[in-house]
Amino acid sequence: MADLRVKSISYKLISEGFDIYRTDQQNEILINKHCCADCKTSWNTDITECYFCGTINPYLYFCKNCNIFTSTKGGKKECKECNTLKQKICFNDSCVTNSEEFYNIFNINLKNYEGVMSRESPCTVSQTYCFNCGSTNNINLAVIVRIIELNFNEKITISSEDLRFDYIIFTKKEKKEYFICKPSEYLINKKEKFIDKLEINKMFLDLSI
Ligand SMILES: [Zn+2]
Ligand SMILES: [Zn+2]
Ligand SMILES: [Zn+2]
Repeated sequence: MADLRVKSISYKLISEGFDIYRTDQQNEILINKHCCADCKTSWNTDITECYFCGTINPYLYFCKNCNIFTSTKGGKKECKECNTLKQKICFNDSCVTNSEEFYNIFNINLKNYEGVMSRESPCTVSQTYCFNCGSTNNINLAVIVRIIELNFNEKITISSEDLRFDYIIFTKKEKKEYFICKPSEYLINKKEKFIDKLEINKMFLDLSI
């Protein structure tokens, strides 16, 4: 089993927001997903929202002098036009933090931060509800998976040892094709279908909590 294949699958899953843990076996991984307890949509702890109105962080800077928004990604803290410090504000115009009365208090005056939505601000909270179904319950789910790379024309076999895995990902040598199955189910129906997508989310949909 090429360790490279396990690594490339692991990196792909990490880029899709899963946490991956290697076990002491070369071709086993534990996949962890932080998700909504009800619909299993990913729960992203990097997403922050305004504590006051729930608006999701738009990652924009705002210059109040010039009334200009710019992206915070790679952007400078100072406004290009007037050279004053820009703020990471809440994008909701009617949010209390944007009112004339409170704008400065929440966005400028508080020490060490530059706007309600900045990382240091005490006024943002991590995601509090599911963006898909609105549920406020989140959960960590984990599956233990074996990855098996098949040689050209090699048939699928499931050993009794494989039964301890939640899922097996079969993949073909030098091909980006995958077949994911529960080992016990495969033994019963023997159905296999290789596709060019790695449908990891399906594993979590089936899990009972
Ligand atoms: Zn707000
Ligand atoms: Zn400006
Ligand atoms: Zn949900």
